[in-house]
Amino acid sequence: MGTDVIPTSYQLNLKIVPELDQFSGRAAIELEIAEPLSHFYLHGKNLEVSKVQLLTADSRLDASYEQVDKSGIARINLPQAISGSARLEIEYSAPFGQSLEGLYKVSESGEDYAFTQFEAIDARKAFPGFDEPGFKAPFDITLIVPENHVAISNTPEISSELKDGMKVVHFATSKPLPAYLIAFAVGDFDVVEWPSLPVTDIRSRELPLRGIAVKGKGEQLAYALEGTNTIVTALESYFGTPYPWAKLDILAVPDFAAGAMENAGAITYRESLLLFDDTATPQRKRRYKMVHAHELAHQWFGDLVTPVWWNDIWLNESFATWMAFVAMESTEPHGNYRRDLVSRGLKVMASDSLVNARQIRQPILSNNDISTAFDGITYSKGGAVLAMFENFLGREDFRQGVRNYMQEFEYGAATADDFIRHLAAASTSQPKDVVISAFNSFIEQPGLPLIEMSSQCTDEGVNIKLRQSRYFPLGSSGDRDQVWKVPVCLSTGSGEISSKTCLMLTQKELDFELPGACPEWIMPNANSAGYYRFSMLMDDWNKLLTNSDKQNTEEMMAILGSLTGAFNSGDLDIETLMSIAPQLIASQDWQVATAPMDQMSFMYDRMATDGQKQVLEQRFAEFYSSKLDDTGLEVTEDRDKASLQAALVTFLAETAKQPELRAVLVKMAVAYTGYGRDGEIHPAAANPIIIETALTVAVDELGDDFVDHLLQLALGSTDAVVRGRTLGAIGNTKDLNKAKEIRELVFSADLRDNEIYSILFPQAMMAETRDATWEWFQKNIDMVLKRIPEESWGRMTAVGSAFCDAEKQVEIEDFFGDRIGDMMGGPRNLAKTLESIDLCIAKAQHHQAEMEAWLGQ
Ligand SMILES: [Zn+2]
Repeated sequence: MGTDVIPTSYQLNLKIVPELDQFSGRAAIELEIAEPLSHFYLHGKNLEVSKVQLLTADSRLDASYEQVDKSGIARINLPQAISGSARLEIEYSAPFGQSLEGLYKVSESGEDYAFTQFEAIDARKAFPGFDEPGFKAPFDITLIVPENHVAISNTPEISSELKDGMKVVHFATSKPLPAYLIAFAVGDFDVVEWPSLPVTDIRSRELPLRGIAVKGKGEQLAYALEGTNTIVTALESYFGTPYPWAKLDILAVPDFAAGAMENAGAITYRESLLLFDDTATPQRKRRYKMVHAHELAHQWFGDLVTPVWWNDIWLNESFATWMAFVAMESTEPHGNYRRDLVSRGLKVMASDSLVNARQIRQPILSNNDISTAFDGITYSKGGAVLAMFENFLGREDFRQGVRNYMQEFEYGAATADDFIRHLAAASTSQPKDVVISAFNSFIEQPGLPLIEMSSQCTDEGVNIKLRQSRYFPLGSSGDRDQVWKVPVCLSTGSGEISSKTCLMLTQKELDFELPGACPEWIMPNANSAGYYRFSMLMDDWNKLLTNSDKQNTEEMMAILGSLTGAFNSGDLDIETLMSIAPQLIASQDWQVATAPMDQMSFMYDRMATDGQKQVLEQRFAEFYSSKLDDTGLEVTEDRDKASLQAALVTFLAETAKQPELRAVLVKMAVAYTGYGRDGEIHPAAANPIIIETALTVAVDELGDDFVDHLLQLALGSTDAVVRGRTLGAIGNTKDLNKAKEIRELVFSADLRDNEIYSILFPQAMMAETRDATWEWFQKNIDMVLKRIPEESWGRMTAVGSAFCDAEKQVEIEDFFGDRIGDMMGGPRNLAKTLESIDLCIAKAQHHQAEMEAWLGQ
C-alpha cells in the first residue's frame, strides 16, 4: 500500500442486523497524505459504495471509489490533488460473509447472530481501510443493532440509546490497532458478568471480565472465566506490563474457522474450546488452557506490539505458542506443559523434512504466502526454536530482552529483527552477533538439522565428533548440504552421575574433547532443548537406550523422534525397531509407550496385504494388550492415564481390531446413544475420552441404521462436543454405499461450515473410501470450496495426501494443475502433498522386505 497515505484514526458506524442478508456502514478515516495526490489506494472487498467524500480544512470534495483487484484493493479518485491532513468518508453496504470470514452470520435454535474473523485479510470485507498489520490507528466504533440485541466490540460500551426502533451503541475509543484485530459481535447473547480481575503489583486498575455465548449457553462459560485470572496475572508478571486494554471479553462462537482469534479485548473461540459441562475430559480442559494462554499472550505480543508486515506474523504465533507453555508452567508447575511444546516441535519435523518446507520467516510475495504463513512451521517449529534460544540465553536474559522490546514498541509495530536485536542486547552470556546470526540461521532457511554424533574414548576422556546436514527422508531429492548455527547441549553419564555440555555448532563439523572418564552413555540433545534430530552408530544408540531410565520424559521424546527420523531415512530397520518396542511400551510415560504405534500403523495402512494385516493385528495386540489392563476403560481424572487409555483403545480397536475390546466399545456406544432404546444421549454411560472411538467401532459393527441414528443425534444437538463426536464417527463410515450418502453431508445446511471436515477428511484418508472420495471431490470441488474460507482453499489439496501410489499422484497433479493458481496458498500445499506421496512410496518400498522377514519369524 505504500506510506504516502497513512490512516491516523477511524470512525466506524455499522448497522448490523443479523436477520438480514446485508449490513451497511459509514467509515470516516483521518488521513495524512504526504505529497499531493489525485488518487490513492486502500482496501475494500465487495463493498457497495454509495458515497465518497474527502474533507480537508477548507473543502469537501466528491470522490469516487473503485475496486480494482479481486483481492480487495480499491482506488479512490479525487477531483484534484490533495496533500496534508484530510478526512475520507465512505458510505457503503455489503453482504454478510459467505463462509467463516469477514463479518458473517451464524444461526442457532432460530436465533441469528453476527461475528467477525478478520485475520488475515478480511477486515476489508467489513469496512474500507488500510488492512495491513503495520497501519495501527485508534478506532471509534458505533454499532446500530436491533433493540433486543447485545453489541460487543474491542472496547467497553460508553453509551447506548434507542433511535428509530434500533439500539445505537457507542464504544470507547480504542488504543491504536490494526484492522485485522478489530471485532464485532451482535445478537441476543447470554452475557456473563464475571467479577473483575483484582488489582495486582503490575496493574493498578481492576480488569472487567465477561463471557459471551449464544442464548442458553452462558452457564457453560464458568470454567473458562474462572481460569482467566491466573493466566492474565502470569503473563503480566512475565511481561512486566499490565494487560493493555480496558476490558476483556471472551466469546464462544458456534461456527468458527480457526481455534480462536486474539482480537484486542474481545477474543473469539470455537465453542468446544470455551464451553464446558461436567463431562469435559481433562484433555479438553488442558486444550482450553493452552489456547486461552496463547490468545491472552497475543494481547501483548501481536496486539500491543504488532508486526510491521505479514512476513513477521510467524513471530506472533511462534511467541504465543511458546508463551502459552511458559504461562501455564508458572500457573501449574506440576502440569508438565513443556512436554506439549516439545511434542509439537517433534511432530512438525515431518513436514519440515520436505523439500517444499518453507522457512519460518517467509518473504510474502503474494496473498498465497499470507495464507501459508499460518501453518505448523510458524506455530510449532517457531515455538520450538524460541524455546531453544530461551534455553541458550537463559530464562532471565531472554525475558529481559522481551520486556525491552515490548517497551520500545508498545502500541506500535516492529519487525523480527527488532525482537532479535533486543534478545541479543539483553544477553549477559553470549556475544550479540552470535545470537543474531544463530537465530537468523533458523528462521531464514527451511528444514531441519540432522546432527550425526560419533564418539571415541581416549585416555583423557572422550572425543566427540559432530557433523550437521539437512535431514531428508528416503525418496527425497533434497540437498543435504546446509549449515545452521545450532545451540547444542549434550548430556553424558556414568552410573548415577551425569553432566551437561552446551556449545554452538557453527560449522559443518566440530571435534572436541570432554575430559574425565569415558561416559557410559551420551544423549546428543539434553533436555530436548534443541530443534534438531540426531543420529549415532547403533552401539551408541544401544548404550543410550539401555540407560533410558536416566533420561527424562522430554529426552525420551527427542530420542524417539530421532529414531523415527532414522526409520524414515532407512537407517533403522523394522526388526530392530520391533526389538526396541517392548522396552518403550513398558514405560510409565504415555508419550513413550505409545510412540511405536505410528510406525506400526504405517506398516498396517501402507505396506501390508490383507493376509499380512491379520498377522499384524495379532502381533500388535501382543505388544499392547496387557498395557490396557493397566489403564482399564473406566473414566479417570488423571490426564496422563486418560491419554494412554485413549491411544491404546484406538490402536487396539481400530488397528489391531481386537474383537473383545470392540464388543465392549459397541456396548458403550449403544448405551451412550440409547440406540434401540430411548434414542437419547446418556453421558454417564460413556467414558468421554474413548467414546468417539466407541462410536466409530459401532458404525463398523452396527451399520447403516446406527449411522442414521447418530446423524439424528448430531443434528438434534446444539452442543459442539456431542455434534463433533457423532459427526466424526459418521465420517468414519466405511460401507461404500452408505459412505456415498454421508459425503453429501458436506453440502448440507444442517452442518456448520466448521463441521464439514469431520466428514470430508476421514473419508479422504481411510483406505476403504479414499478412491471414491477422490472421485467425488473432483466432481464437486466448487461446491466444497463454497463452504471454506478462501484463505484455506489451498489446504484442500490435502484430500489427496492419503495416497501412496504414483498413479494417483499424477491424477492429483493433473486435477489441481489448472485451478491451483486460484486457490489461495494452493501452489505450496499441492507441492507438499505430491512430495509426501513420493516419500510414502519410497518408505513403504524400502521397508517391505524387512516387514516380510519380521512377519516370517
Ligand atoms: Zn495465535
